[in-house]
Amino acid sequence: MPNRLLLGCFILLWSGLLLGQEPAALTVFTHTSLVDGLTAAVREDVQVWIKGAKIEAVLPANTPLPKDAREINLQGKYMLPGLIDAHVHLNNLQDAQRALLTGVTTVRSMGVPHFTDVGMRALARSGQMDLPEVLAAGYHIRPRPDEGIFLDEPGLVDLMGQNVVGEEALGRITYIMLKHKVDWLKVNATARAGLPQTDPREPYYSADELRVIVEAGAKQGVPVAAHAHGDEGGLAAVEAGVRSIEHGTYLSEATLQLMAAKGTFLVPTIAVVKDLTEAGGDYDTPVLRLRGHHMLPRVREMTTMAHRLGVKIVAATDTGYSQESLLRLPHEMEELVGVGLSPLEAIQSATTLAAELLHISNHTGRIAVGFDADILVVERNPLLNVGVLHDPLLIMNNGKIVLNRLSW
Ligand SMILES: [Zn+2]
Repeated sequence: MPNRLLLGCFILLWSGLLLGQEPAALTVFTHTSLVDGLTAAVREDVQVWIKGAKIEAVLPANTPLPKDAREINLQGKYMLPGLIDAHVHLNNLQDAQRALLTGVTTVRSMGVPHFTDVGMRALARSGQMDLPEVLAAGYHIRPRPDEGIFLDEPGLVDLMGQNVVGEEALGRITYIMLKHKVDWLKVNATARAGLPQTDPREPYYSADELRVIVEAGAKQGVPVAAHAHGDEGGLAAVEAGVRSIEHGTYLSEATLQLMAAKGTFLVPTIAVVKDLTEAGGDYDTPVLRLRGHHMLPRVREMTTMAHRLGVKIVAATDTGYSQESLLRLPHEMEELVGVGLSPLEAIQSATTLAAELLHISNHTGRIAVGFDADILVVERNPLLNVGVLHDPLLIMNNGKIVLNRLSW
């Protein structure tokens, strides 16, 4: 370290000690109605202290404020943890920032080209840009991978134009994902719903093939999320030991029972199926609109059954948050309430339970001391109506306010 810089650091430290101040500023939210993400009770009129990027304290209203604290009086408005969208496809930084400005402070990327999610994760961690925390998965592992992977990894060229099936080819693709340091592996266990020419009921892989991916990931502590609409492909994925099933539209009661027994999470993404049926948004073609009409009642019915059987249900949009997107996480939370979850369960599905799925519940998803200062403030009580989450008045991301509409 150059001498002058060293001296500067010393003076800064010394002046901090002299004034009895900590280097990090303290923000105190006063008169907060707190929804902590875990319990059904609202804690009325509390103070929430934020220091740096973390929640420093949750205290009674009459606690004296430190002299240098910045006070933000919430006047009884409701605070809850920043939301976790457990299934997104963010293609660029603008879209990631759009997600953040809806109150989503953490995302799990579920398939993008060129490992852009791995890069986003690094940018978010650097704190240089306002971005949600990102858990990356790289490419979808599927019979026909995105062609970008052959540009990133020309050594895979012999698989180009082939169906990537069989244990050897799947092992090679999985190795590439792990080499790029993904947090999750994403595999398509059935065909997609969002393409007119594919049939979402069609299974892609056997349980043995899927186990190759699960076991390779497990060796490095990387869990697997399996896209599955049809029951056969979904069951194979559950048997292989994936951590979450994405969509699950046609899952049978037997498969859901196995999920409940094994603790496999369900991420039903109901609202995106509704998007198929409507004009505009992420999907808008005649075939998909017709398909959406028969998928939507099925995915709702399946989620109701999953809830009854005790399957852990997590909220997600499956959107890219592009300019065209009409999907927001509260849409999915409203859908979950519609199929039988309580508003508290719907909030947990986007906070505490989502954090459990993502293995990040030690630092995010709750308003509690020591947790990330990822915070959402809304006007009314979300435990009465999760729809109020469509209108965030304040968003804090790792201790930094990225949206503040409180004064209006
Ligand atoms: Zn998806």
